[in-house]
Amino acid sequence: MSESTTADQDPWLLTPGPLTTSRTVKEAMLHDYGSRDQRFIDINHRVRSRLVDLVDGADSHACVPLQGSGTFVVEAMLSNFVPSEGKVLILVNGAYGQRMESICAYHGLSAESLIWAEDEPVDSSAVAERLTADASISHVAVVHCETTTGILNPIEEVGAVVAAADRALLIDSMSAFGALPVSSRRIRFDALVASSNKCLEGAPGMGFCLAAKDALEATQGNSDSLCLDLYQQWRGLEANGQWRFTPPTHCILAFDQALREFDEEGGVSGRGGRYRANCNLLVTGMRELGFETLLPDELQAPIIVTFRMPADAAFDFQLFYDGLSDRGYIIYPGKLTIAESFRMGCIGRLDANHMRGALNAVREVMGEMGVASGSPTAG
Ligand SMILES: *Cc1c(COP(=O)(O)O)cnc(C)c1O
Repeated sequence: MSESTTADQDPWLLTPGPLTTSRTVKEAMLHDYGSRDQRFIDINHRVRSRLVDLVDGADSHACVPLQGSGTFVVEAMLSNFVPSEGKVLILVNGAYGQRMESICAYHGLSAESLIWAEDEPVDSSAVAERLTADASISHVAVVHCETTTGILNPIEEVGAVVAAADRALLIDSMSAFGALPVSSRRIRFDALVASSNKCLEGAPGMGFCLAAKDALEATQGNSDSLCLDLYQQWRGLEANGQWRFTPPTHCILAFDQALREFDEEGGVSGRGGRYRANCNLLVTGMRELGFETLLPDELQAPIIVTFRMPADAAFDFQLFYDGLSDRGYIIYPGKLTIAESFRMGCIGRLDANHMRGALNAVREVMGEMGVASGSPTAG
């Protein structure tokens, strides 16, 4: 899968997105289909049913795609599924949980949060307690992999307590979907959102909501936004296969190809397996260089890894970033409040060779800076 590095090779994106895509996914975009073209309508249908199948929802669930980056569909989910008389309990252990709080504030939705430290997973027993204490809470919103740190939240446990309390669950699975399994038979959710460009390795430009059909039906009239009205988008697609407004045609063609490659790789287990191998290689190699991960291995999702900033006074993050970038590897700054850090992703069209290449680049740049160890404690 690796394409040789040449002078005009695009950089490898060790980031949370946009991500490296395959050449064939990019090539799938070399067409201009009209939105009423039967070929395009068929592709939409295929993409939507494949996504529904991914959550084992063929009879019970529907896929509603939406133009925009991932946040657009997170906003659509919250503002459509939580009715104005409802109240949502948001589970927060990072920036994407906080973003859901902002969305609710913008839409004037009644919301409250349970908050954990960024290096702690959300705890389902605290959720159960809160639901018992407050009968007015109608929905619970949770982030699957909190990309701020790369921590994996226990969504099945959360789903079990939410179902036991007979409330509705909303999941932001943006950075995990396609790499970690989510089955509607194992976890009861009203809606789950993800996007074309994370673990499914399409081009950025659209998100999608996988919703229980009865819950989606019940959202009719809830939306306070024309563009984000998922119910109307769904009705339109079901009626004539059309998006309501100009669809991101090229993005959908790329996504169709990306889903084909996802299936060829063995679906969630193949894709997740490659990412896990990437993650293990990266973490092992970085630890050999003295770096420390923020998270213990058992909390780490195989998506993106947070490393603590080295203590050595000769370490300069901008030089480190630029040195890696010069060698073709793009990493990501940290987004933490608890510790100085940076992140390296292991998703997108990257394999063991890219991880080894990135580790070699890290070693070289440390040598150039005169940094002997990446340890965050030893100077
Ligand atoms: C990437 C991501 C999003 C969406 O971000 P956009 O920049 O709008 O695409 C939402 N939630 C999580 C957990 C993410 O990782």
